[in-house]
Amino acid sequence: MVTKKKSSGVKGAKSRATAANRAKPKTVQSATYKEPGLMKRLAAGAVVCAEGYVFELERRGYLQAGAFVPTVLQDHPEVVEQLHMDFVHAGSDVTQALTYYVHREKLRVIGREKDLEAMNQIALKIAKKVARKTQTLFAGDICNTNIYDPNDSKALKQVERIFEEQIGWAADAGVDYIVAETFSWGQEALMALEAIKKHSKVPAVVTFSIHRELVTREGWTAAETCRRLEAAGADVVGLNCHRGPKTMLPLLKEIRAAVKCDVAALPVPYRTTEEQPSFMSLTDPCCADRRAFPVGLDPFVVTRQEIFDFGREAYAMGVKYLGVCCGAGPQHIRALAESLGRRPEGSKYSVDMSKHAFFGTDQKIKTVQTEYRSRL
Ligand SMILES: [Zn+2]
Repeated sequence: MVTKKKSSGVKGAKSRATAANRAKPKTVQSATYKEPGLMKRLAAGAVVCAEGYVFELERRGYLQAGAFVPTVLQDHPEVVEQLHMDFVHAGSDVTQALTYYVHREKLRVIGREKDLEAMNQIALKIAKKVARKTQTLFAGDICNTNIYDPNDSKALKQVERIFEEQIGWAADAGVDYIVAETFSWGQEALMALEAIKKHSKVPAVVTFSIHRELVTREGWTAAETCRRLEAAGADVVGLNCHRGPKTMLPLLKEIRAAVKCDVAALPVPYRTTEEQPSFMSLTDPCCADRRAFPVGLDPFVVTRQEIFDFGREAYAMGVKYLGVCCGAGPQHIRALAESLGRRPEGSKYSVDMSKHAFFGTDQKIKTVQTEYRSRL
């Protein structure tokens, strides 16, 4: 159950027009903050978190691949709400606000900075509505800014501002916890964590991405990065995006051994390999070895069984915050939930071949069909 919470992170700070008034709210933070559920749920077992919203919305025809900004929030909010519902139906314990890439820098790139706050508010409102209706956890989300540069102090200030304003809106909306994700720089992940701790009072789930090289962009291993994040106060640490189940699992083993806190794993549902360990490095032999990312990835999508096996293996090694990132569809989330022994609502429709016209074993299936099986 979701424990009802009296206060979100930044109570009382209604207007977020300036950085100055965002910097103050700590003084009005209610002392009655209660653990809203994530950590208790993790203590009791696994938490399934569906992600991959921008890819699925692109697939459904409501979001443009490339910039990957979810302008669908303003164009078709009902589609976003339905996708949240689809993921919950499939077994997600979390409704994560679609604020991924709804930050100042991304909106600047597409010339929509003026829509920054409105889009964040719409995303938070939709997710909160679904979360409360379905008794799932309501998560906020911040991510890679794409301007982080350790040698550019002006850019670092911008990164801080991006995190601060998005966390502020999420905290005001009453999120149960905040996800910070998809960082290529360990140091940027640390900045995101620091901002969550400074501008909210909710748990922080911090995940980052390991690309082809087995280190972050500053050269830290995944295990080392997680150790640093744990030491800096992250509640859950781990990996998301870029790597498929097969090339993420070995790193998870190292991470699990390196930290005491809960570990998260949200691979992309693609068949990455040792030679091409990230989905951006995959090339398609059927199409002149062209880069498959982002709209040619279909032939690499993993099966439900592969996600089921991933869930089993990750949970067995002690990884309890589990999800699927870019490319995930409801079928993957359901398989993940079922790998944990669950039967979400959507499992009512999980495959049962006993009544199939040719492969069925049910006595009502005619032998004139089953005898023809081997010739199909
Ligand atoms: Zn992703």
